[in-house]
Amino acid sequence: MSHKMLIGGALVDGRLSMDVIDPTTGSAFQRAPRADSDQANEAVAAAKQAQRGWAALGYAGRRPFLEKFADAMDAAQEELAETLTRERGGPIADCRFEITRAASAIRFFAEQVLEDRVIRENDSELIVEQRYPQGVVVAIMPWNRPMTLLSFKLGPALITGNTVIAKPAPSTPLTTLMLGELAKGIFPAGVFQTLVDNNDLGPLLTSHPDVAHISFTGSTPTGKKVMQSAAGTLKRFTLELGGNDAAIVLDDVDVDWAADKIFAAAMINAGQVCYAIKRVYAPRSLADDLTSALVRRAKATILGDGLDPATTMGPLQNRMQFEKVLGFIERAKADGGNFLTGGEATGEGYFITPAIVTGLAASAELVQEEQFGPVLPIQIYDDLEEAITHANETEFGLGGTIWTSDVRRGIAIAARIETGTIWVNQHMALPLDVPFGGAKQSGIGLQNGIEGMQDFTQLRVMNAKLNA
Ligand code: NAD
Repeated sequence: MSHKMLIGGALVDGRLSMDVIDPTTGSAFQRAPRADSDQANEAVAAAKQAQRGWAALGYAGRRPFLEKFADAMDAAQEELAETLTRERGGPIADCRFEITRAASAIRFFAEQVLEDRVIRENDSELIVEQRYPQGVVVAIMPWNRPMTLLSFKLGPALITGNTVIAKPAPSTPLTTLMLGELAKGIFPAGVFQTLVDNNDLGPLLTSHPDVAHISFTGSTPTGKKVMQSAAGTLKRFTLELGGNDAAIVLDDVDVDWAADKIFAAAMINAGQVCYAIKRVYAPRSLADDLTSALVRRAKATILGDGLDPATTMGPLQNRMQFEKVLGFIERAKADGGNFLTGGEATGEGYFITPAIVTGLAASAELVQEEQFGPVLPIQIYDDLEEAITHANETEFGLGGTIWTSDVRRGIAIAARIETGTIWVNQHMALPLDVPFGGAKQSGIGLQNGIEGMQDFTQLRVMNAKLNA
């Protein structure tokens, strides 16, 4: 076993352990330490013990620790990116980007300060909105973007004075463990810890009386369990859940330009991104051209080992997701879906060739549910109103896009889409100073921006009578 958990300032083995599977081959390539419930309780106790001292440092005192940590991530970029390619799958260039982006998010939040806000000040009263840390934060992570998604929690939670336990998804524990190894020599004991489980410690952590906040990113069904479990202690929580982003293409668009952007935003990380494009609404006048352009791009995709620089798409991350996507494909075929290309399992690992699908009803599972894989349904519309209605007619509300050569027209349509983010002529732009979160069953709470930092704090109103 080459990696250890960071608990209470020490790098420790797990009382349990488990295999880590390389999705490119489907075989185990390393063992990872795995915590039992005693180790989880030890981590919570250490986080609680460290929290007041960490909070007392103030923003200026905490900032250098985060900056040193970001520097350490940058210095370890290549090692982290290679391990990410092995455990997550996907092109090494994308993994390098993920590490760089995660380090820059830590650095960005290190520089932020939540200032007090004076609500009223006059001769007789001073009323101030103050924000203080909530306490112990547990970050529960999915496997699709283990580093960036963790950095969006770690940076804001730590700089606002909380201590953080990072619990990666069981199928991608290694890069998170590596962050713990880097953090050991940087943060005081208990400020940042890593805890690996096998999908079994969630209930303990989400109901633990000494955990103040659960910052969860994952699927909508698990998010609902987190909310239920957190209710017992009225914990604060952030839920970043599933999405079913619609791309609405308007009839004035340049088809080749839009096809490039839409294909990239649908197939990035083999479609395993919460805010990837998961369905396309195309006007009948452009539908054939757009579909052919997407099919050409799908056929040009090079599946393979992410360490090979020629690879443009990796495998599905784990067997369960691979089988889930194959199930979507089978049922989409039964629903009358016309697979113009792709949708085949291939190679020894969890690879599926990118698929472009037409002919499905609005109610079909592949249109309504989150496939989280490289299978893109194209829905043809005659009336733009119909496309807007369909885009909104889903339980999800994460993101979406309007594609047009008339950006003002796109902005007007965007105002009618019921999601947490709506892009126009770009998809996936997520600046760190802009809040991100889901509408409807895509989530509760926000990440990034000042609002995302505020979510890790408790609001206290200080109300003083000055002339008593
Ligand atoms: P998942 O819900 O299966 O697992 C997420 C995490 O929850 C894992 O760490 C898992 O161990 C843990 N977990 C499992 N059972 C638990 C329980 N009872 N209590 C607490 N935690 C528990 O999700 P996944 O399959 O790893 O990730 C894919 C999903 O994540 C997709 O739906 C995707 O859209 C979503 N996602 C959302 C965002 C976003 O920002 N909105 C970002 C990335 C992924």
